[in-house]
Amino acid sequence: MKYLVLIGGGHAHVQVLAALAASPMPGVSVTLVSPYARQIYSGMLPGWIAGHYAIDQCAIRIDLLARRAGVGFVLASAVALNLAARTVLCSNGETCAFDLISIDCGPSVDLSNIPGATEHAIPIRPIEQFVAAWPALLEQARQSTGGFRVAIAGDGAAGTELAFALQARFASENLHQASVSLIGSHDAPLAGFPGALRRKALTLLSREGIHCIPQCRVLAALPGALRLSDGRRFAADASLIVTGAAAPAWPADSGLATDAGGFIQVSRTLQSRSHPFVFAAGDIAAYADPRPKSGVFAVRAGPPLAGNLRAALAGQALQPWVPQPHALYLISTGKRYALASRASLTASGHWVWRWKDWIDRRFMRRFEVRQA
Ligand SMILES: Cc1cc2nc3c(=O)[nH]c(=O)nc-3n(C[C@H](O)[C@H](O)[C@H](O)COP(=O)(O)OP(=O)(O)OC[C@H]3O[C@@H](n4cnc5c(N)ncnc54)[C@H](O)[C@@H]3O)c2cc1C
Repeated sequence: MKYLVLIGGGHAHVQVLAALAASPMPGVSVTLVSPYARQIYSGMLPGWIAGHYAIDQCAIRIDLLARRAGVGFVLASAVALNLAARTVLCSNGETCAFDLISIDCGPSVDLSNIPGATEHAIPIRPIEQFVAAWPALLEQARQSTGGFRVAIAGDGAAGTELAFALQARFASENLHQASVSLIGSHDAPLAGFPGALRRKALTLLSREGIHCIPQCRVLAALPGALRLSDGRRFAADASLIVTGAAAPAWPADSGLATDAGGFIQVSRTLQSRSHPFVFAAGDIAAYADPRPKSGVFAVRAGPPLAGNLRAALAGQALQPWVPQPHALYLISTGKRYALASRASLTASGHWVWRWKDWIDRRFMRRFEVRQA
């Protein structure tokens, strides 16, 4: 018997689970370690905030997916990896031994450079904790008699989508006293996207009344406010932290080769550069051909990861994977409208939202498992 342990039910691992269900591997015992029984699909999360989807429509039941694939399920987080003993310690005290391990645990939000964030702000990750916090935030906005102010730290794609989604939700509930501010360190939101898309986004942000605060960093979270790098104390009834992807500490602490940010360095076969019996994919991986941290590339890594895990367990040759050079990004802007970009091409419209909705639902359908 060989032992494979999967850490995290991220975008790549749900495909490994689907592949195992479609074609089981005799003589291999597989275990999935995940702190939650479901995986919230981040691409649809803003749509849930805006009120377009129920949360179950945005969730993949990875516990059921694992059961269908004959994969054991440990409801816990991986907290430490012993590469010499080939064991992983879980947050529930359980230790899993492995021949091969695959890590798709996604990123975390680095709160260390925003003192007070743990007490006075809501980070976007873990997404389940954000999902748990949202109903109370919305209720506060409903109950507020003065102006209810939400500040979002981070004006990348996720922060900008969330700003639009919140504003759309407040508008749909006639909470006109509620306001959303988007804070970022670049000259305008969506840095790195083509100019035409950024200009369109700025027009829409202004039309929706979303207050943009560019060229500013959040230095600290205080009770009812954020301290900004321009010296301001910015009053906010709720502060959301949607700053970029950071790596959890435990992979680097284990002795795995990582990049400067702590992300696991992998070769084109998705094997760790230092420990080839460790595989990694999704945002936690630093690919041989670097790509932006995004769900698109995490999804694309799924099939090559599934194939290479199978090949490694069977003692066969592994196949290199080179991610596509460009990805299609679809950014919803709240009111069933979306922006699209791929390389320098851009588009926008209600039809783009319908396209995104179709792509997202099609992705989710692949992982539907009926409960027995
Ligand atoms: C609001 C929002 C909207 C976004 N929209 C898009 C979009 O439209 N398109 C796009 O390309 N990208 C989007 N992104 C980025 C996208 O979410 C990430 O790039 C993507 O989630 C990375 O996938 P992953 O598989 O690496 O990790 P994840 O999707 O984060 O999955 C990791 C899984 O591992 C689990 N896990 C975490 N730690 C551990 C541990 N220690 N042990 C075991 N399990 C663990 C987590 O609970 C989670 O289930 C968005 C992000 C946000 C926040």
